[in-house]
Amino acid sequence: MNTLCKSCRQKTIQPVMPNVRPGEGRWVSEAEFERRVRICLACPALQADTCTHCGCLVRYRAALKDKACPCPTGNRWE
Ligand code: SF4
Repeated sequence: MNTLCKSCRQKTIQPVMPNVRPGEGRWVSEAEFERRVRICLACPALQADTCTHCGCLVRYRAALKDKACPCPTGNRWE
């Protein structure tokens, strides 16, 4: 997976990800993370590791409780 964020092009995700604690605080559980990523991997909006609707690295967005799938036709994660 590329670690350079295509949105800001300044920060890398790699230093942030070790701080993820699945199921705690702002982070979804491991099972929910895997479920979301599976949906992204089958989505036509995925380009490399990035969602073309929001520009996010999907593995980062999928880890956050307060984020939803930004698909204009509806949240695919629901
Ligand atoms: S539209 Fe939703 S399911 Fe598709 S890649 Fe983006 S976040 Fe993932």
